[in-house]
Amino acid sequence: MNKIPSNIMALASNTSNKRETVCIFGTGDFGRALGHKLIQCGYPVVFGSRSTQTSSLIPKDAEVLSHAEAAQKAAIIIIAIQRQHYNFLAPLAENLHGKVLVDISNNLKINQYPESNAEYLAQIVPGAKIVKAFNTVSAWALQSGTLDASRQVFVCGNDMEAKQMVMDIVRALGLTPLDQGSLLAAQEIENYPLKLFPMWKFPILLSLGLTTFFFFYCLIRDVIYPYIYENKDFSFFIAISIPNRICPILALILLALVYLPGVLAAIIQLYRGTKYRRFPDWLDKWMLCRKQLGLVALAFASLHVVYTLVIPIRSFVRWRIISYTVSQALNNKTEPLDTTNAWLSDSYLALGILGFFFFVLLGITSLPSVSNNVNWREFRFVQSKLGYLTLVLCTAHTLVYGGKWFLSPSSYRWYLPNAYMLSLIVPCIVLVVKFVLIFPCLDKPLMQIRQGWERNPQYSS
Ligand code: NAP
Repeated sequence: MNKIPSNIMALASNTSNKRETVCIFGTGDFGRALGHKLIQCGYPVVFGSRSTQTSSLIPKDAEVLSHAEAAQKAAIIIIAIQRQHYNFLAPLAENLHGKVLVDISNNLKINQYPESNAEYLAQIVPGAKIVKAFNTVSAWALQSGTLDASRQVFVCGNDMEAKQMVMDIVRALGLTPLDQGSLLAAQEIENYPLKLFPMWKFPILLSLGLTTFFFFYCLIRDVIYPYIYENKDFSFFIAISIPNRICPILALILLALVYLPGVLAAIIQLYRGTKYRRFPDWLDKWMLCRKQLGLVALAFASLHVVYTLVIPIRSFVRWRIISYTVSQALNNKTEPLDTTNAWLSDSYLALGILGFFFFVLLGITSLPSVSNNVNWREFRFVQSKLGYLTLVLCTAHTLVYGGKWFLSPSSYRWYLPNAYMLSLIVPCIVLVVKFVLIFPCLDKPLMQIRQGWERNPQYSS
């Protein structure tokens, strides 16, 4: 008899200011944290617990009753209990009939069980309306109020009214509900908190691998080689010189790797003569993490700027300038200004400054708050056209830096070219292939393919 009125009262919560009682099963960390927050927001809270004794940890305005008694007091029951204990709900099925049960549980592993916890709950209490919510919010964040990074609450369920009731509570707590659809989405929602920077894994592992490779490469060329052949100790290069070599190299390679999958995709589409066949998995995954690759590249470019700014205050650099000046004084000879060198060095710096400026612009436009405010065409213009311009500027910056040393045999040590020469391989390939793809004989069919044209249509009309 109690069930129907409590549901109706809850549905009316939108229209009156009076908050409906919320029941929480479980007085553990999450149950208590959510209880506190709900009471703060004006909801009467009743706990359903195995022990009805209150403790100082339980919010003082909350009632603690047995599960069956507590269930009678509210239309919404939040199950703040681990999945492995859900069996205790089976004998309560009568009391829970018609109630909205909110499953907030998480697992320890991705796809730990064949069905989601919410679907499992629905099997145990078939007469209840199950809604999945709150699992992406931590008890600590609820209690400390540090919810800035995780205001989004994914909500899913098969009953629209039940879902709406839960979303109203989410909103009242100052959080943002995101309707993810039916209960089928629960497994995905449960996996979400277990994912550790999924899109960042490849860019970070790749940059770690490249950093290690270039570190040892530069160590061999710039520290070990001079030590063996010239008996010079340049081990202090490890602190600034080598990092300042690795950072621009990685920034350039990673930026080129942002644009390489697009070029590969174009070649594949031209070759297949259709866009309706899936790309290989590795290419799909690569395309999905281009933003993260670009942001890691920007981080390396920013480090390069900082390392470059400290060059004038390095004691090695000051010593070199002073020695050069003293040697000119001792020889009573002044070197005239080499305007070619001055041009090269100024152009190199100018290209670097402009390249970094556009790099930062790309980074800013990839932020959701900015990208949400531009339309698709504007976004593509910045990320594609300005992106390629950035790649051209940064590649030119490196080319001008290397300049005349490229073909000089003295720049090779143990047959190893300078590290920045290696960094030019990927960007040059990307730019050359992109340049070839711009030719109308390739660009036109590619545009047609991307608009749906097929060379050998699978389904003829
Ligand atoms: P917890 O501190 O271990 O509390 C679980 C509560 O479940 C206990 O306090 C107990 O409450 C009840 N319980 C334990 N064994 C039981 C049994 N055999 N039968 C019936 N009730 C039992 O866990 P929690 O951290 O609060 O997490 C609760 C749920 O919220 C979990 O499913 C978790 O995945 C989810 N969650 C937690 C967080 C978080 O930050 N902690 C974040 C998101 C989601 P009584 O003693 O009152 O009966």
